[in-house]
Amino acid sequence: MIYDLIIIGAGPAGITASVYAARKRINFLVISKDIGGQTAWSGDIENYTGYQFVTGADLVTKFEEHMKKYNVPLKEEGVLELKKKGDSISIKTNKGAYETKTAIVASGKYSKELGVPGEKEFKNKGVTYCATCDGPIFAGKDVAVIGGGNAGLDATLQLMKIAKHVHLINITPELTGDKIMQDKVEGAGNVTILNNTRVTEVMGDKMVTGIKIKVYLPAGRENEKEKTLTLQGIFVEIGLMPNSDFAKELDKNKKGEIKINSFNETNVPGIFAAGDVTDIPAKQIIIAAGEGSKALLNAFSFLSRKK
Ligand SMILES: Cc1cc2nc3c(=O)[nH]c(=O)nc-3n(C[C@H](O)[C@H](O)[C@H](O)COP(=O)(O)OP(=O)(O)OC[C@H]3O[C@@H](n4cnc5c(N)ncnc54)[C@H](O)[C@@H]3O)c2cc1C
Repeated sequence: MIYDLIIIGAGPAGITASVYAARKRINFLVISKDIGGQTAWSGDIENYTGYQFVTGADLVTKFEEHMKKYNVPLKEEGVLELKKKGDSISIKTNKGAYETKTAIVASGKYSKELGVPGEKEFKNKGVTYCATCDGPIFAGKDVAVIGGGNAGLDATLQLMKIAKHVHLINITPELTGDKIMQDKVEGAGNVTILNNTRVTEVMGDKMVTGIKIKVYLPAGRENEKEKTLTLQGIFVEIGLMPNSDFAKELDKNKKGEIKINSFNETNVPGIFAAGDVTDIPAKQIIIAAGEGSKALLNAFSFLSRKK
C-alpha cells in the first residue's frame, strides 16, 4: 500500500500534524518511537497558551487523548532510513518498510552526552538524561545536574523538591537559563550552584558514587585542583541534537537541523519537516505544534496539486 502521508515522530509537531491529517481524511500513518517526545521530559510548563500551568506528563496525556479522538494510526517503531524513490518516498524502520507520497519529518531532538570517562558505563546506573522520568528514583539522595541553561534549570527545579541536595554544575561563568527559573533555583536551600565548572569523570562501582569536577577560573586566576563530589545521581542536561541522521538526502545546517522554507518544504519535493528537528530559530512546544499544523497543510496542498 502507498500512503498519502507518513509522519515521523509523535512530539507536539507530529501529533498536531496527525490531528490535522485525520481531519483532512487522508490515508496516513504516524511512525514514532514514543508519544510526547521532549514534552514528556518537561516538568512544569507555564507558557503553552490556555494553560497557566500544566505538567509535561499531563500535556502529553491531553495530546494523546486528542489523537485517540481521531483514531490516529500509530506504529511504535524507529525510522532508520527515509529516501525518495521515483515518485514516492520509502521509509525503513526497525520493524518494516513503508511507501508514501509525502512525508513530514517531526523527529525532534535527543540529549547530548558529556563524553567523559564513566558516563557510558554508568548510564541508567545513576547517569540519566531525563529528570522527569528518573527523578523519583533519587528521592532523599544527593545528585548533580549538569547544565545551566533552561533544561538544566528545569531539571534542578524538579529535583530540589525530591532529592536531599542538588549540585548544579555549570560550565559558563553564570547560569544562562530564564531569569524566572534562576531566581527559584537560587532561592532554594538545598541547591549549590558551581559556575565555571566541568565534570571530568563519573565514578562508581555497581552504581554511581560520585563525580570529579574541575573549576576553570577566568584568565589570570589559578585554576583549582580537581575535586570529588560524593553523590548517587547525575542528570545530564547540556543540550540537544537533532534526530536527522536517517534522512541522508535532506539538506541540513551545521548543527544537523533540516533546512526548511516557510512552507516547511525540504530540498526534496514531497518531504516536509516541522518542529525542533528543523532549522527554525526557536524551539518550544507551541512553536513545534504550530509548525506541525503548517507542515500538514502544505503537504495536503502538495497532494492536492498532484491529483
Ligand atoms: C527538559 C525540557 C523542558 C522543556 N520545557 C519546555 C517548556 O516549559 N515550554 C516549552 O514551550 N518548551 C519546552 N521544552 C521544549 C519542547 O519540549 C520542544 O520544543 C518540543 O517538544 C519539540 O517538539 P517536536 O515535536 O519538534 O520534537 P520532540 O518533542 O523531540 O518529539 C520528537 C518525536 O520524534 C520521535 N522520534 C525521534 N527519532 C525518531 C525515529 N528515528 N523514528 C521514529 N520516531 C522518532 C520521538 O520519539 C518523539 O516522539 C522543553 C524541553 C526539554 C528537554
